[in-house]
Amino acid sequence: MLDIQSLAVSVANKTILKAIELTINSGEIHVLMGPNGVGKSTLTRALLGDEDYTVESGSITLAGQDLLPLSIEQRAHQGLFIAFQHPVTIPGVSNLQFYKAMVNAHRQAQHQEPLDAIELLEQVKHAAQQSGLAEDFLYRGLNDGFSGGEKKRNELLQMLLLSPRFAVVDEIDSGLDVDALKIIGQGIRHLQQQGTGFLLITHYPHWLEYLTPDQVHILVGGRIVQSGGAELADQVADHGFQAFAA
Ligand code: ADP
Ligand code: MG
Ligand code: MG
Repeated sequence: MLDIQSLAVSVANKTILKAIELTINSGEIHVLMGPNGVGKSTLTRALLGDEDYTVESGSITLAGQDLLPLSIEQRAHQGLFIAFQHPVTIPGVSNLQFYKAMVNAHRQAQHQEPLDAIELLEQVKHAAQQSGLAEDFLYRGLNDGFSGGEKKRNELLQMLLLSPRFAVVDEIDSGLDVDALKIIGQGIRHLQQQGTGFLLITHYPHWLEYLTPDQVHILVGGRIVQSGGAELADQVADHGFQAFAA
């Protein structure tokens, strides 16, 4: 459903990704691993449509739709969700106001009526519960004063609210405690069962015990140099990336 072919991406006039091939079907979880600075977040940015990241060649399609000509917002409306390691903070806008705008923009793009305040609050409360966030968080500024773990639970909450076609989760796991990892793992599994496909970027394969990846990919030298099952993540945990030559 997400199909990436021969993708080359440059940033600041430097080619970072040379030829990425990746096909991820509905309801599949793929894990992307690679050394620091290899271009994992560059791939995330290219998927998002960040204009600082130039697609030099290749294609990205989601459910058959070419994403490359689309804006960040249009890609989101096609069902692409990107969860970041460092989500934005907006002190003047409450989390609840932000969710409302987000959900209704998506509904509008799908020619659906906006949710009324009561329905929305019901969905938000349910998602907050699944994310382990107390209700008073909803009335605080977007991520304002949230701890690292709370910000990431908030990313999960938004993902649960939108139930995206496809989600990229870039190092959402770094710095999380075991309880938060478990909650995020459960949330991802819940969405997976509803058909969301995932690309998870992580340095910590041990948290994958809450999930069963369909495939693990190793990114080195601008290419995916090896793909395999969950055992590949264990191999990296034990021996690092030395064995994978560019
Ligand atoms: P990873 O996520 O795998 O650690 P990144 O994709 O963040 O790696 O970075 C890949 C390379 O691209 C690094 O050398 C990084 O410095 C460079 N890079 C990424 N984003 C930018 C940017 N906005 N401007 C300049 N260089 C960048
Ligand atoms: Mg990095
Ligand atoms: Mg990164």
